[in-house]
Amino acid sequence: MLGHNGFTRRKFISGTAAVTGAVAAGATIGTITPTATARADSPRPRVRTTREEHRVVVIGSGFGGGVAALRLAQAGVRVLVLERGRRWRTGPNAETFPHPSNPDKRMLWYQSPSQILGKPVSVEPYVGLLETVVGDNMTGICAAGVGGGSLVYQGMTLEPTREIFETHFPAGLDWSEMHRVHYPRVARMLHLATAPNELIRSKNYAAARYFADRVRANGLPLAKIPMPIDWNFALAELQGKMRPSYTNGDGQLGVNNGGKFSVDVTYIAQAEATGLVSLRTQHNVTEVHRTPKGQWEIHVDKISDTGRVLAKQILTTPTLIMGAGSLNTSRLLVRAAALGHITDLPDGLGQGWGTNADRIYVWTDPTADFGPAQGGPVVYGSKNWADPHSAHTVIQASMPPNPMGRNSTMLVGYGVSDSRGHFTYDSAADRARLHWPKNGDQRIQNRHIGPAVRRIAGPQSTLTDTNAAVNSTWHPLGGANVGTVCDLDGRVKGQRGLYVVDGALMPGNSAACNPSMTIAALAERALDRIVANDVGARI
Ligand SMILES: Cc1cc2nc3c(=O)[nH]c(=O)nc-3n(C[C@H](O)[C@H](O)[C@H](O)COP(=O)(O)OP(=O)(O)OC[C@H]3O[C@@H](n4cnc5c(N)ncnc54)[C@H](O)[C@@H]3O)c2cc1C
Repeated sequence: MLGHNGFTRRKFISGTAAVTGAVAAGATIGTITPTATARADSPRPRVRTTREEHRVVVIGSGFGGGVAALRLAQAGVRVLVLERGRRWRTGPNAETFPHPSNPDKRMLWYQSPSQILGKPVSVEPYVGLLETVVGDNMTGICAAGVGGGSLVYQGMTLEPTREIFETHFPAGLDWSEMHRVHYPRVARMLHLATAPNELIRSKNYAAARYFADRVRANGLPLAKIPMPIDWNFALAELQGKMRPSYTNGDGQLGVNNGGKFSVDVTYIAQAEATGLVSLRTQHNVTEVHRTPKGQWEIHVDKISDTGRVLAKQILTTPTLIMGAGSLNTSRLLVRAAALGHITDLPDGLGQGWGTNADRIYVWTDPTADFGPAQGGPVVYGSKNWADPHSAHTVIQASMPPNPMGRNSTMLVGYGVSDSRGHFTYDSAADRARLHWPKNGDQRIQNRHIGPAVRRIAGPQSTLTDTNAAVNSTWHPLGGANVGTVCDLDGRVKGQRGLYVVDGALMPGNSAACNPSMTIAALAERALDRIVANDVGARI
């Protein structure tokens, strides 16, 4: 099939649990074959370009973008949010999200080379949920859609300890203040709650119980993981009041039944309710510039469901807030620096990028029986945080209905690593490219995460490290790091009116936790100060 973008699009997605570690069980390597004659044979219709001015523009509606939009609107500031993806509305028995055991075009962002192996099924280009960013030795995976990564994330939401945070984050970020103010604020916004025992005792949660037994038997710490979930939805599923979505592990590409407090239904919904925030979906930012007058100029493609450009917009603003996520904020800014669209960006831009040492294993234990359906998304984890320099976490997550058999489940491991990657501008491709050291993260993997996973699994088990097939991360972090490229409040150094509030601000790790809570808490902290000091003065 000939795609609108001059590529022959034939993507293949695993028919077996594509998402379990992109998903653990099996990711895709599809083909995208350039068709040299396509553009000449089918000239694109001309599209109109319009120009507008705005007081504040936020790129992206994930954690960082959502926090920025809400807090600025609450301070009385009118905000335009540009989001490249679509809205994904849920509710009992909805069919909004694709099913991981039978994925379709909704799974992939149309510009993604697919990097997931498995039984091939053909997929049309679509403004889907997951973008794969293929670099040297690393594929970063991020989300698209109103709510960003919160749409597809499992929702594991952890706050780091003071010791680990202070070891890996810049001095000056006061953990005590964040612990008192910002982490609890995020927890309230996302309605964090752990799975109730009544649910864990049910037959669908045998894998969670078995993991807990194995962790205890090995003398490792065991904790329930806070999740942004109304667990009554899961209980209602077990009572037959709605089709399964949580209780059969079907929620890895988004929970159809609702009950998940993702950013679209929390931060973004509250921001829009102020009447001061307008959000444009399917508006893909292609370039950012600084004008000679010091304004920010944003080039935007309004796109169709298949990614066809319907219209172009050039927006100017004195205040540009980057919330496009680590990979896309970094790529937009690194390209702008290379092409001279923004001069004098700080030297550290595009450096200090990390994976959170993210690893996903398929754990197969012949002595276990997890039943035909594994409830999820996540109940228990093991926080091995005693030494701040090797701190890591291992979590059990459910498999979708059941591709690997009744004795397999998923283990997720991540932690602090000192390996770092960087972005450079590739002029032939006209885009910024991610580079990762070939054996990056080996120290923490070989000495800490791997051994902990093996202890929990036990000698009778088989562990399949899905990163061995496609080295990938769900946790891209850094690129416009706090303390080097940005000040502690997200202001890009030397660039009045330019801010970074998303995962690009993180120092290449998230202190042995999944990243979303610290991204949101850092954004909350930054916005407190931006509202107090910059609104009325700079904004
Ligand atoms: C499958 C999966 C599971 C995960 N599980 C967890 C978990 O359990 N716990 C956890 O803490 N973290 C998890 N993560 C990671 C977490 O989702 C991210 O760390 C988090 O979403 C990053 O927040 P952010 O604000 O930096 O960016 P995002 O949430 O990624 O938001 C960025 C937004 O910007 C938009 N955007 C990007 N480029 C453009 C552009 N050019 N123009 C317009 N809009 C643009 C994107 O579409 C997106 O909506 C998971 C991630 C994935 C993919």
